[in-house]
Amino acid sequence: MIGEIINVGTELLLGDIMNTNGKFISERLAKLGIDLYFQTVVGDNSERLATVFKTALKRSDLIIFTGGLGPTKDDLTKEVVAKTLKIPLILNYQCYQEIKGKFEKRGIVMPRNNIKQGLIPKGAMILPNPNGTAPGIYIQYNKKHIFLLPGPPRELQPMFLNSVENLLINYSDGQIISKIIKTYGIGESQLVRLIDDLLEEQSDPTIAPLAKVDGVHIRVTTKRNLSSLEKMVEIIQQRLKDYIWGYDDDQLGELIVERMINNNLSLSLIESCTGGAITSAITDIPGSSKVLEQSQILYTLKSKSEFLNCNIEDIPNSGIDFYLTEKLAKMSLEKTGTDLALAITGALGPTAPSGVEVGEIYISTVNNYKTITKKFNYYGTRENIKEKCVITALHQLRF
Ligand code: ATP
Ligand code: MG
Repeated sequence: MIGEIINVGTELLLGDIMNTNGKFISERLAKLGIDLYFQTVVGDNSERLATVFKTALKRSDLIIFTGGLGPTKDDLTKEVVAKTLKIPLILNYQCYQEIKGKFEKRGIVMPRNNIKQGLIPKGAMILPNPNGTAPGIYIQYNKKHIFLLPGPPRELQPMFLNSVENLLINYSDGQIISKIIKTYGIGESQLVRLIDDLLEEQSDPTIAPLAKVDGVHIRVTTKRNLSSLEKMVEIIQQRLKDYIWGYDDDQLGELIVERMINNNLSLSLIESCTGGAITSAITDIPGSSKVLEQSQILYTLKSKSEFLNCNIEDIPNSGIDFYLTEKLAKMSLEKTGTDLALAITGALGPTAPSGVEVGEIYISTVNNYKTITKKFNYYGTRENIKEKCVITALHQLRF
């Protein structure tokens, strides 16, 4: 079965919204083992929508539309599909009653426009939409499977998981299984060199390195052949063992917090350039209160000198400095009595004080036995560099 997605919406073409529906459905189809060959984004325009649909009918067996099922004039998907297939739209009384009921429940009289959402192509199956008014629609036409799904992700996603997948499961061509290996501390090109031969020879499973903010990920994918996947993962593990920090859905912050909870470790933080972002990443994780004792943002030279009990003139290099960062971490450990302390200083840009480069970052982690202080040089926008600082700091907490 060859699949195709058609995402409808001028907002998508203008870049006003991200096409997360495309991503969601692609991922789910891959999991189901259904080949997706095409994906098109088209605006709210009848003619162009019809052209795209006719092309899809020629080349695909499964066509999934998202968007354009709403009550307004620019919601055209159902109308165009029905017209192209020459199937009449008929008011489905049950649907109409349900939509009306949803408005009544909210104490609103159903606007006339919404009657349109009760129109269903003759012979089509209705997919319930507990989170909105527009029902989803499933049409079987000349061996083609056509789904019309609502645009809002909170309506589309449950409908896909609860209704669409049950209908598609019979057409699956063997589940696609993949394993993601997450690495850190090695660049993509260096990593590729370590598994060069595997990449050259790959057929099943396939191997794909992906550069992500939290490090380079390697996706190993197979159709059906689980043992070949396991073997390949083992080979990659051996080659990259020093760099691997997690697998599949593992999240860096969660791993760090979990590990510290398991080892009964407490943490204090001193943030300068990141302004609380590291603290925020840690407090995003449930259970972080068992770990994080306190965190301080020391942004100015004055605040740093007060914390270290020294003169402002004694703060070196505009507060962005290897030894200063180390001192901040050590002082934090001493003052708070935590098991572990981390300090960060740096210049996020776009400009930096004289003698300091944009993207020059220092991170120091200390416990009662050892101190690790590292300098990093990052490129990118202020936002990028800040994001990298947070990831690097989390990785350094693994020490
Ligand atoms: P509505 O009844 O809300 O009008 P609809 O089925 O007609 O729903 P659209 O009008 O096309 O869908 O889109 C409604 C909203 O759904 C958009 O404003 C956007 O927030 C979201 N949306 C639409 N398409 C996508 C998409 N491909 N990815 C992510 N979000 C989307
Ligand atoms: Mg709409």
